[in-house]
Amino acid sequence: MIPLSVPNFSGSEREYVLKAIEAEWVSTGGEYVQLLEKKIAQYLGIDSAVACQSGTAGLHLALLLAGVKPGDEVIVPALTFIASINPIKYIHAEPVFMDCDDTLNMDLEKLKDFLCNECDQLGNSLINRKTNKKIAAVVIVHVFGNMADVERLMEMAAKFNLKVIEDATEALGTFRTKGTHMGKFAGTVGDFGVYSFNGNKIITTGGGGMLVAKDPALAEKARYLSTQAKDDSVYYIHNDIGYNYRMTNLQGALGVAQLEQLDNFILIKRKNYLLYTKLLQEIEGLTLLPFNSGTRPNYWFYSLVIDEDKYGEDRDGVLNRLYRHQIQSRPVWRLNHLQHPYQCNQAYKIEKAYSCVDKILNIPCSTNLKKEDIEKVIEALKK
Ligand SMILES: *Cc1c(COP(=O)(O)O)cnc(C)c1O
Repeated sequence: MIPLSVPNFSGSEREYVLKAIEAEWVSTGGEYVQLLEKKIAQYLGIDSAVACQSGTAGLHLALLLAGVKPGDEVIVPALTFIASINPIKYIHAEPVFMDCDDTLNMDLEKLKDFLCNECDQLGNSLINRKTNKKIAAVVIVHVFGNMADVERLMEMAAKFNLKVIEDATEALGTFRTKGTHMGKFAGTVGDFGVYSFNGNKIITTGGGGMLVAKDPALAEKARYLSTQAKDDSVYYIHNDIGYNYRMTNLQGALGVAQLEQLDNFILIKRKNYLLYTKLLQEIEGLTLLPFNSGTRPNYWFYSLVIDEDKYGEDRDGVLNRLYRHQIQSRPVWRLNHLQHPYQCNQAYKIEKAYSCVDKILNIPCSTNLKKEDIEKVIEALKK
């Protein structure tokens, strides 16, 4: 079986994890967690980063620190993994769903229409006319490692006084190559950015995540909240309600070894992306979704776009065809406004997202794919 996306442990993973075990530092204390925080911050060119148990935990802390309150609303994409949405509900706020554009990222034109035509500015707050609730923040997702147009987004956020949380869980290593934010990494432009080191992400710690914040004081507050809000570690004084969200040293050890390979992983993913693109030229009706111009993507996930009329088979036909050849593929997520917990939430003019889901299939993209594996995928797609 050629899997969709599996980890690559060809670096110092075993050595560092063993060192953590031998040092008997396996829990949330220990030098690897701090080292990973330091190295990620260095990589991103920022002051500090806060290691978490998961990307989801990081998103939860980001929403809390962005000041989202119970009853507020947060604008989110309909097309994303549900973990971008759930933390909004953890704090009893409500999502408002936006459509995507051809890049699979949030349609910023529609976002502008919504903010201008469906909301009223009331003092410092933006009020959704339909629900009468305050819109506190936007969660933008850099889908599959493809960076959204942050320049446009940040202008809108400033104008409408919205906090921006970048769900960069899939986009570690992606950066802008033009405009105001040239050279800036996905996750470092908004008020908060969150990365994930889940097993299928570009680097993994098994489970884990990293939170970054524009305001260093808020990053510090996030670290405090992630460690049970402990104000005194001898007498156990807690002046706030905290969480058990800190990464463990075992995860940190894995992460340090993985981060050493990140740039190489991106090179491999780029090379494989280009090989797929070249070989797909021989097949009518199949292409890979391009990444945004103005961005150096991390090439995390490859989206096969199926033109059913030209190819003669629909998405599920292709999925089953690949499955018969022992190749794993996967459709894009079920849209979130259709998921059971969110069917009563507002969804603003969702149109494009349906067709994106209908025609896209993610195909194998692991960094340990061999040339023969890619050729096997292409052969299976030929009729
Ligand atoms: C992976 C992912 C998350 C959640 O990260 P975890 O570390 O698995 O909690 C959130 N949003 C998106 C878009 C993701 O792909």
